[in-house]
Amino acid sequence: MTAFWTEADFDDHELVQVVRDAKSGLTAIIALHSTHLGPGAGGTRFWHYADASDAMRDALRLSRGMSYKNAMAGLPMGGGKAVILANQDKAKTPEMLAAFADAVDALGGKYVTAEDVGISEADMAAVAERTQFVSGLPVEGDDAAGGDPGPFTALGIFLGIKAAVKHKLGKDSVEGVHVAIQGTGSVGGGVARLLAKDGAKLTLSDIHMHRAEALATEIGAETAAPDAIMSIACDVFSPNALGAVLDDEGIARLDCQIVAGGANNQLRRAEHGPMLAKRGILYAPDYVINAGGIISVTLEYLCRNDKAPCDINEVRKRIALIPGRLEQIWQESDSSGASPDQVADRMAQELIGR
Ligand code: NAD
Repeated sequence: MTAFWTEADFDDHELVQVVRDAKSGLTAIIALHSTHLGPGAGGTRFWHYADASDAMRDALRLSRGMSYKNAMAGLPMGGGKAVILANQDKAKTPEMLAAFADAVDALGGKYVTAEDVGISEADMAAVAERTQFVSGLPVEGDDAAGGDPGPFTALGIFLGIKAAVKHKLGKDSVEGVHVAIQGTGSVGGGVARLLAKDGAKLTLSDIHMHRAEALATEIGAETAAPDAIMSIACDVFSPNALGAVLDDEGIARLDCQIVAGGANNQLRRAEHGPMLAKRGILYAPDYVINAGGIISVTLEYLCRNDKAPCDINEVRKRIALIPGRLEQIWQESDSSGASPDQVADRMAQELIGR
């Protein structure tokens, strides 16, 4: 048997803990990639994995991703992630969440959890009854950091698209710029609304086409079928649905100058970043452009612990730094010949002392 810590995905994680609680039936993995910049922060995923090694791989990759994202967002947090392995009937019980909360608490603040796929705000509120090391909890009022991260993620992506349009097309505005948006949920829908206000020409698509159509009617946009959106002739392709859409086939289909969107892990494999660059397409590294939400929920957590201002202006101020960070990456990419994702990875690794 090959030890998993000799595989590339392990990437010198500081801690990987398997949590088993026979009474509740909980099996979970907590992965802490790096606490160099602060406690490892990243959500908890509840998912039915084909086998235990899939779950381990997911936890390790997501946890490293959070190290990079938090570092590049200038947050005083490291990277971590937890996965709870759903059982055959995919039932999630209060007892399981309680056992999970106790495991998070036992780490004494080295890991700060939040919602991710399969975990609701109510689940996290239940976890927060047993441990203080939780972010992404509901907040009161419109002027506080925290709450739904989607609109903050969308704001960062909108600003990042504007920066990409300036860098690649030399335009100061997105007026008349054609953006094809894949996924019109919380993030993609928010990006579409912001772009529409600034006069961009939009084509929207969603696997649930009624969602894309309703939004298109609301903001005056065109729609395209899910299997057509990646080959639309446009200026910007904005992936806001699934990860791994930038693979051999996806990249070959693109007819755009820029890829900039919020989906996590857009590049299927490491070679797909250089492949985009070779085609002359400017790429905004996903974990840099989509950090708006993590900025908001982290400030909410730090504020609760008197370590940061709580107000929404501080969140907006930090999100406004995303375009400058992207510009720095693109300039370094232009001068070094490395692709933007490679430059971003190197910057993140330097920040976390790797
Ligand atoms: P969401 O569930 O609100 O929206 C996703 C949308 O994509 C849904 O409308 C869904 O129907 C659609 N979709 C799924 N598969 C599709 C396909 N093949 N083609 C077209 N549309 C498809 O999720 P969200 O919160 O908007 O997140 C979108 C992406 O952004 C995810 O990859 C997520 O991991 C990432 N992300 C989200 C946040 C956040 O703050 N919500 C932060 C960082 C990254």
